This record gives sequence, structure tokens and C-alpha cells, in this order.
Amino acid sequence: MHPMVKPALRRGWRDLGTAQFGMTPAHALTLGPLDAATSGFLDLLNGTRGLPLLRAEGRRLKLPDGRVDALVDRLARAGLVDDACGGGPAAGALRGKPEVLRRLRPDLASLSLTSPEPGGAPARLAARRALRVRVLGAGRVGALVAAVLSGAGVGEVAVRDEGRVRPWDVAPGGLPPESVGERRDTAAAAAVRRAAPDRPPRHARSPGSAAGEPGLSLVILTPRDEVAVHAPDPGAAQPLLASGTPHLYAGVVEGTGVVGPLVLPGETACAGCLHESRTDRDPTWPRLLAQWRSGTGTRPVGACDLALSTTVAGLAAAHALAFLDGVSPSGEGARWEVSLPGLNWRSRPVVPHPACRCGAAERPGEKADGEHSSTPARSRATMAVQRRSTERAREAGAARPTGTWRAHV
Ligand SMILES: [Zn+2]
Repeated sequence: MHPMVKPALRRGWRDLGTAQFGMTPAHALTLGPLDAATSGFLDLLNGTRGLPLLRAEGRRLKLPDGRVDALVDRLARAGLVDDACGGGPAAGALRGKPEVLRRLRPDLASLSLTSPEPGGAPARLAARRALRVRVLGAGRVGALVAAVLSGAGVGEVAVRDEGRVRPWDVAPGGLPPESVGERRDTAAAAAVRRAAPDRPPRHARSPGSAAGEPGLSLVILTPRDEVAVHAPDPGAAQPLLASGTPHLYAGVVEGTGVVGPLVLPGETACAGCLHESRTDRDPTWPRLLAQWRSGTGTRPVGACDLALSTTVAGLAAAHALAFLDGVSPSGEGARWEVSLPGLNWRSRPVVPHPACRCGAAERPGEKADGEHSSTPARSRATMAVQRRSTERAREAGAARPTGTWRAHV
């Protein structure tokens, strides 16, 4: 292990003996009181030295025996330390591709903030390269979501859609103006390639294009049809539910952008649950929906504000990445919505419904009150405890030779 105080956390001194790592409440932590020798030692934790060399430096600084190991251990337990050589073989292989790492440096730094354990960030970044994601719908939102995921290091991002690119599908980062007239899925695949020219070679091409094909880490549904955005079709998600494939909805309907729910089949509410709940609340919902869906003939191009679709694509990709990195974002069991022109984000719970056959409502302890909708994620909560719980901070501080830890809030 080559310990490195996470460089993504900006360091400042609150007083002579108290250091604060990080600026924002979400990730900042204070550490102190620190004596001068320990403060000086912190500067040596920059990833260039292994533990034997650090122990030697500790002796030179006249730190007591065992202090170096205890300090590194406690910094690591607080989530402040990364391992410059850690992350396992896949991370090691990624270090052999400096052109990839250079491009993804900010993403790696960001992952270090959400990965408490040393080596967690490179491990997660490397793991992204082995993931398979499918995006269904290559309009303004879908093509951009796919490109962002590819750019963020997801190894295989396939886009499915039909028809040819129309002038109004074009969006910065998504389908370019010169793709108008090309097949939508071909043009989206090119956007995915452009976003990550250094991505790994594709696995053997999977036969067929069924949405519920096993082996997909996540499917993202970004329909170009705004009725399908507003009221996702439970039937279309059946193959995903049957194969247990996690899936995420995102899109723009009229002046509203929608991200979620992120559906974990059998665990969290699905499109069918959403439909049943809406029918409970508004008995005329099925009648309206039938009218919206039955529109025939040529429809005018729907409303889709370019900035809003870009925002939705970015947030959807962020939810997808959080999930793919192993945590549960707030889109599980909720739809995030933002409407023009006020742009206030709000989360609407989507709760498992007993009449839905997805089985989420039958989970033991499941409550149909949506209380879980915006709770922090499972593994994220683990980290939050380390960072936010004053109890945990006191516990760590009690055993710490140089003083106490305090969570900064
Ligand atoms: Zn359901």
C-alpha cells in the first residue's frame, strides 16, 4: 500500500492543530488536534512511499513506534486515504493505459470521494470497463446519456432505436448535425465511440437485441415519445422484470424533465406500480392515458428544451453511474422531476403497489408509504456514517493517540 491523503479533498487549517479536509459538507472532515510532527508527516502521504519507507520517515520525525501504522489505519478508516497502487489487478491494468487514466483523472478523483476504502476509486473505475449498459431510445436524451456513460468509462454502451436521425434529434454531445439522415442507432454508436476513443474492445457481439438479455448491468429507457416518458409502459418493461435487469427511466415531457425511477426488479417500484398508484389517485388516469397513447397520424414535433434534455441526460447518467459503482442513488423508488421555467428539482416517491405483479410490494417489511424513496443508499449510508456520524467520529477519536476526530457538518 502506498497511502495517499485523497488529493480531491482541499486541505485547510482551522487552527494550528486542526486540519479540515474537503470544503463541502457532503465530504469534508476535520482532524485534530495534531502535533507538529504528525502534521508534517501528513505531507508525506502522497502516494510515493510504501509503509516501510513511511515508518522510516516516522522515526526520523521522532514519532512514537507504531504511530505511523495507527495514523494510516485511522485515516483510512475515516475515508481520507487512498492507495496509489491499490484496487486490484484490473486497476493495475488500467494504470498501464496512461492515455485512459489522463482523460479520466477527474472522474477517478471524484470516485475517491465516494469510495471510502483505500484503492476503492481505481477499483471502481476499472470495474466500469467491464460493464454492459443498453440505452433504449436515441433522441436528444438517450444519445447523450449513452455518450456520457461511455465517456465516464463504462466499457460497453449499446444504443437501440429505429428510424433515421431527424434534424431535431441533434444535440451537443449526442447526435451531431452531420448525422441527420443516418440510422439512429448507427449514429448513436458513433457518438458513444467519440466519447471514449480509448475504450476497451467490444466483447463478442451479443446476438439479438432483446431488452431483457441477461448480462446487462443496466438498461436505460429514454423514449423519444413523450407519452412514454410521462407514463412508461409496464408491458415494455416486462422482459426487463422477467430477466431481473435493473432499469432506469429518463426523458422530457412537455416542459418537464424526468429521471427515475431506477427499478430493481422485485425490490423497488416499477412502471406497473407507478401506473397502479396513479389509477388509485385519479380514476380517470387510464382514460386519459388511452387517449394520449391512441394519437394517430403525423404528430407535431413535441416540446423538448435543449438545456432541459441535456440536464436530464446528465442527471440520468449520474444516477446510472452511482448504481453501476455499487451504491443506491435516490432514483430508486422515486422520480426526480424538474419543470421549466422555475427549475426546482423535486422527488416524487414511486411506491411498490400490491396490484402490480412485479412483486416489489410483497417484500418483507415493504411499506407503501414511500418513506424509502429518498433515503441515502445502502453502501452510501455506510460511508456517510463514517463521514457524518459524530458518534463514529468520537469512537475513532477515543482510540487515537494524537487527539479526536470530528465530523465536519
Ligand atoms: Zn411493480
